Amino acid sequence: MTELKTGGAQGYLRIATEEAFITQDVLNAYMRLVAEGYDDPGFQSLWGFYSSSPSERGHKIRDGLLSLGEQRLSDMDRAGVDKAIIALTAPGTHVFKADEAKALTTDANDQLAAACRAHPDRFIGMTAIAPVDPVWSAREIERGHKLGFKAVILNGHVEGEYTDDEKFWPIFEAAQALDTPIYLHPQGPSKGLIGPLLERGLDGAVFGFGVDTGLHLLRLIVMGVFDRFPNLKLIVGHGGEALPYWSYRIDYMHQAGVKSNRYEFLKPLELGKVSNYLKRNVYATFSGMAWEPAIQFSKTVLGSDRIMYAMDYPYQYEPEEVAAQDAMDMSLEDKRAFFQTNAERVFNL
Ligand code: CA
Repeated sequence: MTELKTGGAQGYLRIATEEAFITQDVLNAYMRLVAEGYDDPGFQSLWGFYSSSPSERGHKIRDGLLSLGEQRLSDMDRAGVDKAIIALTAPGTHVFKADEAKALTTDANDQLAAACRAHPDRFIGMTAIAPVDPVWSAREIERGHKLGFKAVILNGHVEGEYTDDEKFWPIFEAAQALDTPIYLHPQGPSKGLIGPLLERGLDGAVFGFGVDTGLHLLRLIVMGVFDRFPNLKLIVGHGGEALPYWSYRIDYMHQAGVKSNRYEFLKPLELGKVSNYLKRNVYATFSGMAWEPAIQFSKTVLGSDRIMYAMDYPYQYEPEEVAAQDAMDMSLEDKRAFFQTNAERVFNL
């Protein structure tokens, strides 16, 4: 592998758009929930492993998540990543009661803002929220905007509730008003969804994350969130959580269901097809999906202006994947859009 360098010699900067961190306080609180037997099998599967696994992977993930300084910067240098857009890791503070969730969220945002101030050329932050209190979260999105954050991280469902429920919509209203994108990131599938996945060890990033997050985005679309908030920008990772691939069949069957009034609550959408919302409101990153066929396919379906590079540090820190994506059969202009300029535009950098 040729040596990867920062600085843009290849014709573009590399901006990694789905990078994770954790505070020591949030990690400690996760460990407490694990020990208390917190009743969420997705959380227990994820953090029962990552919070205490003595494996090499367990140590590497914890060290990487906790670093907002030298270790992260040297890992970025070694992979040729110029800038990292960093968010509180999944499931954020979704698993805590309101008071604790808000205190941990505020502190995580303050710590991330300090790191971004210390390394303004390398780190960009996303605002963490405590969606158990959507109105407070809307105010925290405004505070995060003032702190210089460029997006909002929504770590999936909220104790089994999905954010197409109108009580969560103050979050979308605040994000649209500030023209700041929401990054919908996976966590363990909700209690109602996880059973057969967990039974075969398929609940995590291997498959279950994508099932839960693709479902979440689809629920937002079919329940009219993007008709109510037409300028809302929503980012999903992992190649769009498979929705670009599914979109032809989704369009056909969703419209057939609406026309035949199969479900009383499903109303016609202003833009008709689900895929019209993917092409108007949604952006896909390729965290964990550094695979040219998937990237080329999504470029064809969504357009070269809606796909973005991500590393998914520290969960999938593989510098070879950067080299593989540099080598994609794609024009320099499209590669620059993928690695750099789409992120600059979508995140208002
Ligand atoms: Ca991730």
